[in-house]
Amino acid sequence: MEGLRHRLVLRGRCDCDCVFCRPDRSAPSTDPSVALQDLRDGYAPGRGLNIGGDEPTTHPALPEVIAAARELGYKPIALQTTGQLFAQPGFARLLRDLGLDAADIPLYGSNAAVHEAITRRPGSFRRTLAGLARLRAVGLDLVIHTVVTRENVSDLSDLVGFCLARGLPLPRIEHLQPERAFPYAEHAVSLADSAAALATVARDHLAQMLFVNFPACFAKLLPESLGTGLAITSAPGTAQRPKRHAAVCRSCALGDSCPGPFVGYLDLFGDGDLRPVSTCRPPRR
Ligand code: SF4
Repeated sequence: MEGLRHRLVLRGRCDCDCVFCRPDRSAPSTDPSVALQDLRDGYAPGRGLNIGGDEPTTHPALPEVIAAARELGYKPIALQTTGQLFAQPGFARLLRDLGLDAADIPLYGSNAAVHEAITRRPGSFRRTLAGLARLRAVGLDLVIHTVVTRENVSDLSDLVGFCLARGLPLPRIEHLQPERAFPYAEHAVSLADSAAALATVARDHLAQMLFVNFPACFAKLLPESLGTGLAITSAPGTAQRPKRHAAVCRSCALGDSCPGPFVGYLDLFGDGDLRPVSTCRPPRR
């Protein structure tokens, strides 16, 4: 699905200071003419558009860009955003009327303390929830995602319950990507500890979850008894950091389709949590 979408980076200036994000604050915002040319160059019939960057809602040309994308024929048009600026009355309706179809928004915790331990911006939880409410009110499709870190791993089940209780989509759960720009070892969680948190999610909610960027054998860390009602998909797609096979992957039947964990993960945690698949039977999905 991702490959059917053009990705446009519209750099503004994000208000958050997430523990795993180190945007270049000195970088200029995207030149609108460059963004519009990128749209024209990237278009093909039937193609959708993902607009991301260092908080595109803070870029003054966003309405113009969405209108131009719709005029060119992009469908659907989705925005990756903290959602905070949608708390302003009228903003969600304006962008919807110009052609925006969907928004992908991070929720890092079930409460302000956990969410803001990651965003490091007081009030960001309240503003994101207010933005989510406005986006829902105008009928935009919503996607929620979270990233597993030490700050929120024990809150994952509560986060799922929070979303279920409010009729929000279940969060897509992403494996933290190692970057040199932040202290990965201070925030990363092992596959085994991530699986333990996932088991709690399954026990509490029997929710169908989507996991992104975890190695395929992550499913094997889960107790078999938790399999009913739990779906794990090693979705391709959003990895920006290199992955590689460990020595144990040589015996794995999934080696051709699974690229292994992130290199930075192996450097930090080793391969002790990997579980090579010895038959052709795929892991539980
Ligand atoms: S053992 Fe290696 S190749 Fe096999 S599923 Fe796990 S990470 Fe992927």
